[in-house]
Amino acid sequence: MAQRHGSVDSQISPQRFKVLYVEDDPSSVNLVRRLLGAEGYQVVTAADGLSAIEVAERERPNLILVDINISGLDGYEVTTKIRTIPELDRVPIVAVTAAALKGDRERALAAGCDGYIPKPIDVDRFPEHVRDFLLGMREEFESPEKKAEYLAEYNRKLVHRLQEKIGELEAANAELQQIDKMKSDFIILAAHELRTPLTSIYGYVQMLLLNPEIPGGEDEGSPRSMLQRIANAAQRLNQVFDEIRNITLIDGDRLDLVWEPVALSSLVHIVVDNLRGLGPPRDLRFEFANLDSLPIIQGDPQRLYHALWNIVSNAMKYTPDGGRITISGQQIEGMVHISVQDTGVGIPPDQQERIFDRFYVLEDIQRHHTSKTEHQGGGLGLGLSVARGIIEAHGGRVWAASEGYDPERLPGSTFHILLPIRQGGARQAGD
Ligand code: ADP
Repeated sequence: MAQRHGSVDSQISPQRFKVLYVEDDPSSVNLVRRLLGAEGYQVVTAADGLSAIEVAERERPNLILVDINISGLDGYEVTTKIRTIPELDRVPIVAVTAAALKGDRERALAAGCDGYIPKPIDVDRFPEHVRDFLLGMREEFESPEKKAEYLAEYNRKLVHRLQEKIGELEAANAELQQIDKMKSDFIILAAHELRTPLTSIYGYVQMLLLNPEIPGGEDEGSPRSMLQRIANAAQRLNQVFDEIRNITLIDGDRLDLVWEPVALSSLVHIVVDNLRGLGPPRDLRFEFANLDSLPIIQGDPQRLYHALWNIVSNAMKYTPDGGRITISGQQIEGMVHISVQDTGVGIPPDQQERIFDRFYVLEDIQRHHTSKTEHQGGGLGLGLSVARGIIEAHGGRVWAASEGYDPERLPGSTFHILLPIRQGGARQAGD
């Protein structure tokens, strides 16, 4: 059945030829390396199906010897795949395997192999066999009917393997989702459990602060100022737990909104007043434009407060003293547009989307201190992703615009928020 094609000279010099041997059994690899190495061939190897394809593409061998029983893709599948790579479609591929079953040779041919060398390797004949294939020898089916029969069988086998693999992937995916849900549940529970003792600490410290007998004064080390610091730290921790819980809910699409009528103008003013009351006083001017003319929208006031708080506190953090923060409102069709514009350090254009990623912080982490209002006070890098999660859960959008980052020139940034007026209201055109 074997035929020679082509006109390769029988005086081939093996030094010019590279052979890829795909085999996971080290003793077979050693044997073939020794036998072909002694003849002067360059031998490269791969131990599984996927790396075989990678090595073949990279090394461009002159001949591929492939063991059929390898892990991942089997030798037949590797052959079929290599046959689809234009640079390799003419490279002879020879199946090397234990001739255990009748029809193995035909199965190899159906997959696209050019021949078959049985195992155990016949040490005396092997180099000659390899040379024959390099010289153009190709094995063929006994008849066209046999070929059609084996091709049909091979197709059925491929479909079966595909079905099996999809089943395995689906099972693995379901398991991962289950693990992910358990992890989220744990985080939500842990954040909740950590908050309970913190609430007591905060409550008792507040009670102590109300006691006029606690000595106070401007003095840094006075019991009153120490208690105030404990209260501030407890509040900050509370926010961190809140942020972690929220991002976990958002990630799992489990952020439940409590829909109510919301007056955004009041909400913005409460956010600004509360932020101004935090930390050391800042020399920042706030301006408001058109907020009072905004319609009442449907939304979750607590969540929207949180989202606005994160955006406005960033505007404060990234604007040095002497700066201005302008919050304006506008109604566009069925949406409300709020923009928070600052005169701060700005954001590089290529980072304006990435800052909404979880844990993404732009500034040097070494300089991090966790103030919500102080200039350049850092955070966990969750603030904007939580804000986006909340706004998107309302069917809205949020994005940043800035000319760029420049702490000297202070080009400023603007955060745009679009919220539908009605629950389930139209998303921005183009979504
Ligand atoms: P963090 O909790 O660290 O503040 P955020 O998610 O709120 O994290 O913000 C991510 C990053 O986006 C910040 O580290 C900051 O570099 C950048 N950023 C956010 N808002 C502004 C702004 N108004 N001006 C300049 N940079 C900003």
